[in-house]
Order: sequence, then C-alpha cells, then structure tokens
Amino acid sequence: MTIKGGCLCGTVRYEIAGAFAGAGNCHCSMCRKAHGAAFATWAFVDPDEFRWTSGEDSIAAYRSSPQRERLFCSKCGSPLAASHSGKISEVVLGAVDGDPAVRPREHIFVGSKAPWYEITDELAQFEQWPPGMGQA
Ligand SMILES: [Zn+2]
Ligand SMILES: [Zn+2]
Repeated sequence: MTIKGGCLCGTVRYEIAGAFAGAGNCHCSMCRKAHGAAFATWAFVDPDEFRWTSGEDSIAAYRSSPQRERLFCSKCGSPLAASHSGKISEVVLGAVDGDPAVRPREHIFVGSKAPWYEITDELAQFEQWPPGMGQA
C-alpha cells in the first residue's frame, strides 16, 4: 500500500511505500504545545519507505530533544513528522489522507496529560514511555 499525507495548505506532501508499524497517542507537554491539542497521535514508519513528494523547501524543523526534530510546514504550521538522528521515523496521523489502516494502541506520557482532558477509551496507558520504547 502507499500512504499519502500532507499539510493544511497543500504545499508539503509525502508518500510512504508501506504500512504503519503502529500508532500511539502522546500526551507529553511538548506534543501538546506543538500540536495545539490534548495529545498528538504519532504513527511509526520505516524511514526507508518515507519520501517527501512536494514542498520539501517549505519544511521547517524544531529540535525539541537532542535526537529528535519536529518537522512542520513553514507556511501553514501543520505538524507533519518527526525525525530521529535525521531519519523520518514517525508521522502525525492527523495529516494522513484517508484511512491509514492503523489505530492508536496506547496512550503515553499520561503523567503529563492536560488536566482538562479525560481519557475515556480502553487503550493501555503509560505514565511515560511504554516498557522497551525509546527516549524523548
Ligand atoms: Zn502547509
Ligand atoms: Zn509527546
């Protein structure tokens, strides 16, 4: 399958030649700020399957952690993806076109959750990272 996505103004577009490896909702304070939302839903991709198809010169990056850059459209501000050590390994699920054929499997960084948001589903919840997962 080919997954496609892009920003609100349509300048930046990408394709993924494969399926998502999973997805999760992150409630950390950085994701809440960066997305202007109660949480951010990230989906995991194989960096070798990801490519920008338009607007690459309009992508801005913010290094929110030593190894992590948040990539967004410099024209409309849409958050799009995150890279680790320069490789795209996560995309923002909300910017994907159509049905991405993956569903969030967990809530992470629930310890930083917005006090005004109540989690009402049955997905697993983790105070920070789930066991065995990387670093912020
Ligand atoms: Zn845009
Ligand atoms: Zn986060």
